[in-house]
Amino acid sequence: MVIYLDNNATTKVDDKVFDEMIPFLREEYANPSSMYEFSVKSSNAIADAREKVKEFLGAKSEKEIIFTSCGSESANTAIKGAVAHNKSKKHIITTKVEHPCVLNTYKSLEKQGYKVDYIGVNANGELDLEELKEKITDDTALVSVMWANNETGVIFPVKEIGEIIKSRNPNTLFFVDAVQAAGKINIDVKDSNIDMLGVSGHKFHAPKGIGVLYVKSNVILPPLITGGHQERGYRAGTENVPYIVGLGKAAELAQENLGFELSEVKRLRDKLETGILKNIFNARLNSSISNRVPNTTNIGFEYIEGELILLHLSDLGICASSGSACTSGSLEPSHVLRAMGTPFTSLHGSIRFSLSRFTTEKEVDFVLDKLPKVIDSITKISPYQEELEHLKKTRS
Ligand code: PLP
Repeated sequence: MVIYLDNNATTKVDDKVFDEMIPFLREEYANPSSMYEFSVKSSNAIADAREKVKEFLGAKSEKEIIFTSCGSESANTAIKGAVAHNKSKKHIITTKVEHPCVLNTYKSLEKQGYKVDYIGVNANGELDLEELKEKITDDTALVSVMWANNETGVIFPVKEIGEIIKSRNPNTLFFVDAVQAAGKINIDVKDSNIDMLGVSGHKFHAPKGIGVLYVKSNVILPPLITGGHQERGYRAGTENVPYIVGLGKAAELAQENLGFELSEVKRLRDKLETGILKNIFNARLNSSISNRVPNTTNIGFEYIEGELILLHLSDLGICASSGSACTSGSLEPSHVLRAMGTPFTSLHGSIRFSLSRFTTEKEVDFVLDKLPKVIDSITKISPYQEELEHLKKTRS
């Protein structure tokens, strides 16, 4: 039995997506760029998928949609392309809580002489917009922020940020990593000042290995991968037709299911969260309550280790994720939770539960039944018994 509550890591491929892909893995294998009749179905299928993604993202034209291999490639293409586009400018602004595919790209640009400012967040994970405002100068080539955070689900006010950027410096490009927002909240690039935006198929029930980069029609970026003229020269390489078809279908389904995400998935997330916070005395929410995507909750269990919790949950078939990443043998607390100033008492014991439209009430009830016992057994062997006793008294 698997109870999968790690949908921010990756999602199950929807059967409807899979069915749509099959013909393009079997009989319709033509190269879409070929000149014969056999390739028409493949090239039409790509055009159809591009149209669906255009609708999904609220783009003006299907020419603004470029298929990539993943969210990381989309971010790399956007960021490296934007600094090449704004060649004379050497300043970039981002946030302290971005995904490593963004942060590590900036680290490499810093080595090339770029100055990067990292904007902080408050204890709820919300961005300091005043700091952002102050940092934008005539030399700012690019501002990049994520739409929703992968660890906490906290949503950044992208529309407002776009307005701030363009009012300070209309030539500054704006990149949004929307990997954790797509399929969870409404995305409408038309309605904002976004120049480039990245999404990843495997976070909304398409397979791994396919992503999208939206590039506004008046922005010209050099390609990251050079070669043939596929994707209007933005991304060389024979198109991954079955995966593009799958992503198109996943985008269509995500749009259809958005209402369900915002109501039913949120209801189950809230039930899980409220139940945990009510029944486990050393549990605390690691983010703002309201300003979040509907599927994510990040909860700190004080004075105990997250990895131990995950192992116990795994024995029960429950998949969740810890806020810490295991780097070179040492346990590094999450850079997101650290940026939020999360107290050390829960920094190492933080767990992310992320639901999807396939999560059932029965699964949530199962976790609510088992988790308090798991936490209780681990809490009993914590070396911080005095502190836990004090916490119990103050919280009861
Ligand atoms: N951006 C965010 C916010 C993510 O959560 C992830 C993946 O977890 C990525 C980018 C990278 O996406 P991909 O795995 O498709 O490269």
